[in-house]
Amino acid sequence: MDGEMKENETLREQIRSLEEANKAQGQERKELEKRIKKLEGEKSQLESRISNQEDKNKQLNDNLKELDLPLELINPPKTRKGNLMEGDIVLTHQQWAIVQEVLEETKRLQSQGKENTKIQAPRKGISLDTLLWNTNSDTGWPTVYYKFATSVTRKDLIRDAMTIWEGATCVKFVKITDGNYNRPHINIIEGNGCWSYVGMMGIRGQLFSIGANCYQEGIILHELGHAMGLYHEHSRTDRSQHIKINYTNVNAGNEVNFFQKDTNNYDIPYDFTSIMHYRSTAFSKNGRSTIVTVNPLMQAYIGQRKYLSFRDISIINHMYDCPAIWGTSCTGSLPNCVNEGYVGKDCSCICPPGTSGATCENKNEDYYGTPTCGGNITQDGAIITTPNYPGYYPADTGCVWWIQSLDNCKRPAITVEEFQLFTRMPNGQCAIDRLEVRTHTIYNGDE
Ligand SMILES: [Zn+2]
Repeated sequence: MDGEMKENETLREQIRSLEEANKAQGQERKELEKRIKKLEGEKSQLESRISNQEDKNKQLNDNLKELDLPLELINPPKTRKGNLMEGDIVLTHQQWAIVQEVLEETKRLQSQGKENTKIQAPRKGISLDTLLWNTNSDTGWPTVYYKFATSVTRKDLIRDAMTIWEGATCVKFVKITDGNYNRPHINIIEGNGCWSYVGMMGIRGQLFSIGANCYQEGIILHELGHAMGLYHEHSRTDRSQHIKINYTNVNAGNEVNFFQKDTNNYDIPYDFTSIMHYRSTAFSKNGRSTIVTVNPLMQAYIGQRKYLSFRDISIINHMYDCPAIWGTSCTGSLPNCVNEGYVGKDCSCICPPGTSGATCENKNEDYYGTPTCGGNITQDGAIITTPNYPGYYPADTGCVWWIQSLDNCKRPAITVEEFQLFTRMPNGQCAIDRLEVRTHTIYNGDE
């Protein structure tokens, strides 16, 4: 009996201690559950932060993809064919001799403390007609023959850009397939940089390079523009009415890139949106603008490398007499297109942006359209934000705000409430985002 009681007592004790252990475990479990809940909360917070970061990274990558590296950053100053003029134009020995003459003259004037402000490199001795590609007598189309070197890796992209020019003009790009290279043609190589001669050189084959870093549609369209006969828009004969060159911001030795040319403009007006126009900071030594528009509000239009502008297409069509060539297959009388319009391949007028009507007779809007942002500010309390604020502004957006006080005795004041800018490049110049503030003169400012 004694033994039985003792055993019972021991069992009771064991049960008690088990119960206590159970209780303690229950509490521990509760604690653990609490901690799990807390950790799950943190986990979901971290996950949303990661996904936010991923969105930001994606946006950044998209922005970087959108960022057209300008030719002069991609291109070496020299190729094995010689120096590059304006970043991507190859000159013949004769053309370089002319450039050298102008350089000598500039140096001579500088040594006398004078500035050669009207620098000109005339296309002396080369008549424009010899620069045009010939019309194929069988097809009747002006034809640029070409050949791909085996080094070219993305023939498809180059062919795509040719198709865009062909769709908009009467010029055809024809690959030499009969093995007869004994005629003028562009010999497309994947060389060091993106460069071309201007027009047809009249030799059996002229090099045309689309380097590994040049596979962007806009760059290829630009180089094909040179090959067909286009100079840079900012070097046109009439450029000084539209742009100014800030030589004080130009990298020493690169002044040659801003020579004015003796160009035939076929009565097509200057175009800030031309794919042949360089951007604001081309060849800048300090990130400040080298090319500024005479009307500061036009500054954001220059340097696009996305599409052929109406006037890019128009000048090629006039250069190669496309309206006349197309007209030969039209029946009846052709429309008398006005306001820069001209007869296209379907025998009706091709009208510039901002016009309408069968002969482009209605002028509804400016050639450049209505800007999505920017403008003159003269009233108190105006608020300036980037488009889509507080979200990211769309790629390739440029805004110019001209803030003026109507009272000559007062200076305008601005208060910045929120400001963000993409980081600078290793060379200290702005990369994706750029803000230029001009306070002393309307043609030059600080970054
Ligand atoms: Zn160029």
